[in-house]
Amino acid sequence: MLNDEYLSTMTGMSVTELAIFSPEFEALPGGSVIQAFSNKSTSNGQLWASLHTTALEYSNIRFLFETPGLRLITNADGDVIGVVASQNGSEVNIKAKKGVVLATGGYEYNRLMIENSYPGWPVFSRGTPYNTGDGILMAQKVGAGLWHMNASDSGSGAALCPGLNFGHGAYDSDLVPANMSLNSPSATRNHFFFVDKHGKRFMPEDRPDGHGYGRREYLFFYDGVACEWPRLPYWDILDDTEAKKGPVCSGKAQDRMFTWFTAHSNYTWSSDNSAEVAKGWIFKGDTIEDLAAKLNIELGVLAETLATYNGYATTGVDAEFGRRGDTLVALEGPFYAIAVYPNQYNTQSGPKRNTNAQTLDAFDNPIPRLYNVGECGAGYGWVYNGGWNNAEAMVTGK
Ligand SMILES: Cc1cc2nc3c(=O)[nH]c(=O)nc-3n(C[C@H](O)[C@H](O)[C@H](O)COP(=O)(O)OP(=O)(O)OC[C@H]3O[C@@H](n4cnc5c(N)ncnc54)[C@H](O)[C@@H]3O)c2cc1C
Repeated sequence: MLNDEYLSTMTGMSVTELAIFSPEFEALPGGSVIQAFSNKSTSNGQLWASLHTTALEYSNIRFLFETPGLRLITNADGDVIGVVASQNGSEVNIKAKKGVVLATGGYEYNRLMIENSYPGWPVFSRGTPYNTGDGILMAQKVGAGLWHMNASDSGSGAALCPGLNFGHGAYDSDLVPANMSLNSPSATRNHFFFVDKHGKRFMPEDRPDGHGYGRREYLFFYDGVACEWPRLPYWDILDDTEAKKGPVCSGKAQDRMFTWFTAHSNYTWSSDNSAEVAKGWIFKGDTIEDLAAKLNIELGVLAETLATYNGYATTGVDAEFGRRGDTLVALEGPFYAIAVYPNQYNTQSGPKRNTNAQTLDAFDNPIPRLYNVGECGAGYGWVYNGGWNNAEAMVTGK
């Protein structure tokens, strides 16, 4: 039986050093036996560093940086025999001795693929903007079948910070992960609620949203009469107490470079959010009516939502959505709002593969000499348990 003590013995780390964050989905058949754990030694690129160091030990591996693969080369029988890549503006052909392994990650930053696969738009990502689904397209061109292209995992949201502009060509280069989340039962940061574009609450704010996209059924509601996604983005409404508790979004200093954007934006979010109010990333109103006017919300709707919510805080019962009573506190002005979009970690799909990581065609036959590994064809599917992706990348890569 896997438990904290067993993992502690296995890893030589104390139980407190181990951050065990699963099973996430005990309701899944077999889900209760899944354990994922991490420790500080895998943070800040250290997992990558150890893999890289090992790869360097093989003198027969030649690394070609700045040389993106473009197409696969096949012979007359359809065997994959090499890759066409781009180097210094020219195309080069690279011959494969035994086979080609596609390890190009997911399609987080292929906007067309995301729009075609997901139930709503916009959706952003926390990973590298260089994952543009190239390997998926290359595999498709030689007949690969695809699986569960609509699958991804998600953390909490993302905020757009116009003018931050550090993304080196990503389609929204001023994106920062938003921290607003009430996942922990002991949450002390609870002076907020969410409303849609029209100023109405739409979900229990304490609903878990870890890796399983626990909020997707709320965020991706499409109003077919109004012809809009009223919750993309949604507004986080918070009060002065919340704003003074700490940054509502991640910055360099706050999250140990957990995402590509916090690592590369080099932006440190102010501790009381005042700098971001001044920049216009967060809206502020001395009264709820002032704030509603800035958010273009119909007069009176946001004030009514606030009054109803504050009433729930008094009784300790959220009669509409069932948010836990111990997280309900009345909000008092001044008020703030920040627009939040869905923010996935990465995609969980791509070319179909078998247990030998051979890429399969549309009829499930292996495409000779073609393999796809890791996130390029990730196998997990719709309900993702944290910890799988890196394990899968290493196992399928091996
Ligand atoms: C913020 C964040 C936190 C995460 N936390 C965890 C975690 O705790 N545990 C876990 O298991 N997983 C986690 N994941 C997921 C995990 O990191 C990825 O699934 C994993 O790194 C995928 O590895 P990969 O080698 O398949 O692809 P990637 O690491 O995405 O690498 C793909 C590489 O291919 C390159 N590339 C793209 N196109 C081309 C091309 N045409 N030619 C050449 N190169 C190309 C890209 O630049 C990139 O360097 C997290 C992801 C994110 C974004």
